[in-house]
Amino acid sequence: MPIQNPADLDLARARLAAAQRLLVITHIAPDGDAIGSLLGLGLALRAAGHAPVLACADPVPEVFRFLAGADTITAAPEGDFDYAVALDVSDPARMGAVGAALGRPPDLVLDHHLTNPGFGALNFIDVAAASTAELVTELLPALGLPLPNEAAQALLTGVVSDTLGFRTSNTTPKTLGLAQTLMQAGGELSRVYDLALFKRSYSAVRLWAEGLSRMQLKHHLIWARLPLEARKAAGFQGIGDADLINLLTSVREADIALIFVERADGKVKVSWRSVAGINVAEVAAQFGGGGHAQAAGAEVAGTLDDVEAQVLAATRPLAKAARTPTPAA
Ligand code: AMP
Ligand code: MN
Ligand code: MN
Repeated sequence: MPIQNPADLDLARARLAAAQRLLVITHIAPDGDAIGSLLGLGLALRAAGHAPVLACADPVPEVFRFLAGADTITAAPEGDFDYAVALDVSDPARMGAVGAALGRPPDLVLDHHLTNPGFGALNFIDVAAASTAELVTELLPALGLPLPNEAAQALLTGVVSDTLGFRTSNTTPKTLGLAQTLMQAGGELSRVYDLALFKRSYSAVRLWAEGLSRMQLKHHLIWARLPLEARKAAGFQGIGDADLINLLTSVREADIALIFVERADGKVKVSWRSVAGINVAEVAAQFGGGGHAQAAGAEVAGTLDDVEAQVLAATRPLAKAARTPTPAA
């Protein structure tokens, strides 16, 4: 349960209501849950008469710009804030420059990552929630906040994108119940699914082709690499892998999927995905990253070849252990 002490929730509600300058932050390289949670809480606060500053150190990806309020998200919040909330942020470094400028821990952290140490003054970390948007939806009434339809649309985007359309193994009846609440409040499931999860640019699919031509499968581990030249050849402007990792997880023979994305700053972005029963968050944490049992990531300094070799060596035992038959008890 996220709410260990209900008095904490009352405290958060009172502090939010009394706040003069509110800052709401989400994580760098934002995904749908980051933007959906940020806009969901932000638009709920605006509907309650607050004027929160919504912040993300990186730009809002094109696919989420259809959401109301997306154009009000800033990368460089100005001034001082008497109450700061961090959403979907698993550790302080993931707030990037926005967190550094804040100069103190957030007052409230709402998150669902297994690797979150609880770095806020108050923390509601529900690792059973399939998305932070799900947790925000659950907590809005207790925080004394309304659910206007534009906030519902944003939160539904968070729920749908982090569950890959309600198909990840952490999708629960509660997830569906809260999604129902969001639809009843005006969230448009088919539109959100189509815009945030399904439709993509031609250059993104060309990037898939680059990655798929560099794909390997060995011992139930599948991986692909995206060197800078692949990004150039595809004409892909965005950061990341254009969700190619999700395509790799569709390969039945694999228990773990990995992707290595070369970046211009000398680091390699690594993403791990695993079937239920294999925890990849720990191996990501060994490389300075983190995440969830079935989906984790890290940014690792080094060349593409070196990082690939190190990460494969550290991950291989997990795939092998999973397929080793356990002796009968
Ligand atoms: P990704 O592979 O980037 O899609 O990330 C999978 C999951 O791991 C997401 O929930 C991310 O929030 C989390 N994650 C990715 N990179 C990091 C990192 N460097 N540190 C902590 N968590 C991360
Ligand atoms: Mn996220
Ligand atoms: Mn999330």
